[in-house]
Parts: sequence; C-alpha cells; structure tokens
Amino acid sequence: MSSLAWRDEDVRGFGMAVGGPGSVLRPTTAEQIAQAYADVAARGGTIALRGAGQSYGDAATSHNGHVLDLSRMNRILSFDPATGVAAVEPGVTVRDLWRHAISYGFWPRVVSGTMAVSMGGAAAMNIHGKNNFAAGSFGECIKSFDLLTPRGELVHCTRESDPELFHGAISGFGMLGCFTRLELETKRVHSGRLRIWGIVARDLEHNLQILEDLRGQADYLVSWLDLHGKGRALGRGLMHRGDLLKSGEDPEGVRFFDPILQDVPGKLFGAVPKGWLWPGMWCAVHLRQVALVNWLKFQAGAREERHSPYLQTHGAFHFLLDYVPRWHWMTKPGGLIQFQPFVPQAEGLRVLRTIIERCHAAGLVPYLGVLKRHRPDPFLMTHAVDGYSLAMDFAVSKNERRRQQLWQLCQQLAEIVLEAGGRFYYAKDAVLLQSSFARVHGEPAVTRFRALKQKWDPERLLQTDLSRRLGV
Ligand SMILES: Cc1cc2nc3c(=O)[nH]c(=O)nc-3n(C[C@H](O)[C@H](O)[C@H](O)COP(=O)(O)OP(=O)(O)OC[C@H]3O[C@@H](n4cnc5c(N)ncnc54)[C@H](O)[C@@H]3O)c2cc1C
Repeated sequence: MSSLAWRDEDVRGFGMAVGGPGSVLRPTTAEQIAQAYADVAARGGTIALRGAGQSYGDAATSHNGHVLDLSRMNRILSFDPATGVAAVEPGVTVRDLWRHAISYGFWPRVVSGTMAVSMGGAAAMNIHGKNNFAAGSFGECIKSFDLLTPRGELVHCTRESDPELFHGAISGFGMLGCFTRLELETKRVHSGRLRIWGIVARDLEHNLQILEDLRGQADYLVSWLDLHGKGRALGRGLMHRGDLLKSGEDPEGVRFFDPILQDVPGKLFGAVPKGWLWPGMWCAVHLRQVALVNWLKFQAGAREERHSPYLQTHGAFHFLLDYVPRWHWMTKPGGLIQFQPFVPQAEGLRVLRTIIERCHAAGLVPYLGVLKRHRPDPFLMTHAVDGYSLAMDFAVSKNERRRQQLWQLCQQLAEIVLEAGGRFYYAKDAVLLQSSFARVHGEPAVTRFRALKQKWDPERLLQTDLSRRLGV
C-alpha cells in the first residue's frame, strides 16, 4: 500500500472537451517525485506529468492513470537583478515570474497568451509568444535544467553537456523526465509599457502582408481574425503591433514596473467583476451570435487604428485572454478544442484560405482565430516553421454526431496542412492521428526521439492520453 496521498480526480485539458478520471498527486519536492515514480512503477502503472493544466487537449491528462501535478513546486529559487537570470521550480507560473522580474526592470523573453502556464509546462511544450518570429521559443531562453528521469537519475543538463537531451526534453511533452529546476534568461526592459498599434487587415492576404512587412521592425505581432468573414472579407482582422520602448522614451515607464499596475484588472470599468462576463459570452455562443460579435469587434478595430499608437502595459498586451476569467466556460457543457496549424510561408495564403473555406462549407466556424508569424527553432519535437500559425477555437457540441463531425473536419484540415509540409503543436491538439506523428516531425526526428525515450524511460512510465494517441 502506497504512503503517498494520491487522490481520484477528474483531470481535463483546459478546453474541458477531453480528459477523464485520474489519480493525482501534488508533490512538493524532487524526492516525492522519485518516490511516486517508484510507487507507480512497482504497481505497473503509468504517470502523466502536469503543470498548470493549460494545454487545450490531452497533453497532461491520463485516463485511469496517475498524474503528477507539479503546481506546488512553485518557488523562485534565485533571481539575478544584474543579468535577469532566474532559477525556478517547475510549478512557478509565467505570472509569478513576470511579477518578480518586472520589479527589477526585466520581463520574460517569451510568454504565452495566458499567464497561468507553468515553467515546466512551458519548457515541455516549448511555448512561443507574439514575438516568435523575432525572439524564438521559450527553450531558447533556457540555460540549464534539472531533469528527474523515470530511471531515478537527477540529470543537470545544458546545451553543451548533452545537446540531444537538452533539445529533446525541451519540446518533448513530458516524455523523458520531470523538470525539477529551470534556469532561464529574462530581458531588460526600459519601461513597464509597450507602444501599440492596431492595424485593420481587410482580408487574409493583407494580414499576411502586414506580418511580412513588419516582422523586421516590430517586437511583437499578432492578429485577431474574424473567421466568419466570407468572400472578399475572408480572413479579415485586426493586427496588433507592439514595440519595446527605448530608455527615456516613456517618462512614466519606471512607475509601471510596479506589478500592481501591470496586473490584469479584476473589474470592468472598475465596477463589474470580470468573472461575471462569461455567462454573457455563453449566450453569444449558444444563441449563435458569434458572427455578430465578431463583426462588431472588427468595426471597432477602425477606431483603434485611428487612435494608434498608444501605450499599454506588458501585462495588458500579452494576457488579453486573462482579462475575462473563466472565459472558456462559455463553451460549456461540451467545451472547446483549438486547432492550430503551422504552415510554411510559401504555402500560407493557399492553405489558410482553404482551411477557412472548408470550415464555412462544413458549417463549423471557429469563434476565434489568432494569426502569428514564426521562425524555426532547434528543438527535436518542434512545432515551429518559417511561416504562419492560425489558432482556431471551436466550441464542441455535447451531441456525439456533431462532435464526430468536428473531429473529422479537423482531421481533414490536418491532412491539407501536412501535405503542405506544415506542423502541429501538441499543446493545442486533440485530433491528430497516430499516422500523423512522423509526418509532423519527419522520420529522422521521430527515430531520435524514440531513442531518447528508450534511453531515459525504458519502461515507458511517462505516458499521457496524447502520447498514447500518437503512439509515442
Ligand atoms: C488561454 C491560453 C492561451 C495560450 N496561449 C499560448 C501561446 O500564446 N503560445 C503558446 O505556445 N502556448 C499557448 N498556450 C498553451 C500553453 O502555453 C501550453 O499548453 C503550456 O504547455 C501549458 O503549460 P502548463 O503548465 O499548463 O502545462 P500542462 O498543460 O499541464 O502540461 C503541458 C505538457 O508539459 C508536460 N509537463 C508539465 N510539467 C512538466 C514538468 N515539470 N516536467 C516535464 N514535463 C512537464 C506535461 O506532461 C504536458 O505534456 C495557451 C493556453 C491557454 C489556455
């Protein structure tokens, strides 16, 4: 009988559409993780590692398996105010890190669209930000990590000491071991604010053109797309460009190093708790008003463009989605999935246009679309391309037939992307088939990854619903 306090819980992805019962443990030390490995291995079970559970799909879930939730290992171990180098435990969140760093005039080099993500999860998925085209991925900021492997070894790893493990564990979706400590670089900023431009993009081609025109100049670029636009309006949206400010450009800049001024406000107009907004959004989704809401948002873009540029805090710019707590509840009871193809630049317009048209033809139009520019990175299980990604959020129906239709549509769209040499990102995936795994990464990369798995986890202790679905 195990002395560890495993608890039976319903463990789901952020999108709530996939996941299921799991036996969960929340360790606070590396020793407890090692003990959990030994405990589960002795019983012939499997373990899924879980950070903050912000992956949309099944990357951190395990049906009837064991789940190690690392969120309680959340100490910032050190921060060098001269260089901005931080050493953290894996459960430290992006929010914990930026709140600490900004007081010293630093900001994480790469952040996701929500600040709830943990450092372990960010490394395991090798997350990207709105600056991926310029600054690369999260893994590129990591100097070293400690990895507790299922063989029970605590390996300290740098790019130089073991390049294969370094580039495989970062991006390796928790398959090779558990990060117990990460050392990473943040960047110096001269103001707590950014200069922002809203730019109306009349269609998909215009959106892509803006990304190409500005990627040599801007620090951050991201476009919201109204995916309900058809014909000449197909792929229209509102691009946001964000630039870091130089020293002396913002007389009030240092005042905004105060984390309280950065944080996403909890109330709308200082009065309405933002936690009350999701029921209104639920009505928009379930009463089929998303096209209207998107149209209104697109119209409002012209006003924003006229008032650009303007200054905005880093927190407000990066974590727009955190403005509305529990916004994803608007898709209850079925939840949501995100489908995010990464498409090479030369194929971008054709493939993304085809995908949007196929959604219209199927009558399954994403309520949200987000377009970004990317660049390749050196990690083994990379999702990056020299091209574009389009994140598309679909509400999932509780009706099994409608749910199957959505899965089939996404699998057909995935085929178009893979044929064009595109990739997928497992933090956002719920639909890819086993046959797609080698096509996403290429046979040589998959062979190297499987060799790493065999070396560091020969008994295949670390498994998730995702890894089983992909046949890793
Ligand atoms: C609203 C929203 C916006 C997002 N925006 C972006 C974005 O802009 N860019 C982007 O790249 N992603 C984005 N994401 C996705 C998110 O960044 C990734 O899914 C990230 O991996 C989540 O981190 P987590 O801590 O929640 O990890 P989890 O989702 O819990 O786990 C993710 C993976 O990491 C593994 N893992 C977790 N902890 C460890 C550990 N200590 N050691 C080894 N493996 C571990 C798990 O096994 C799993 O495979 C967004 C997600 C949401 C919900």
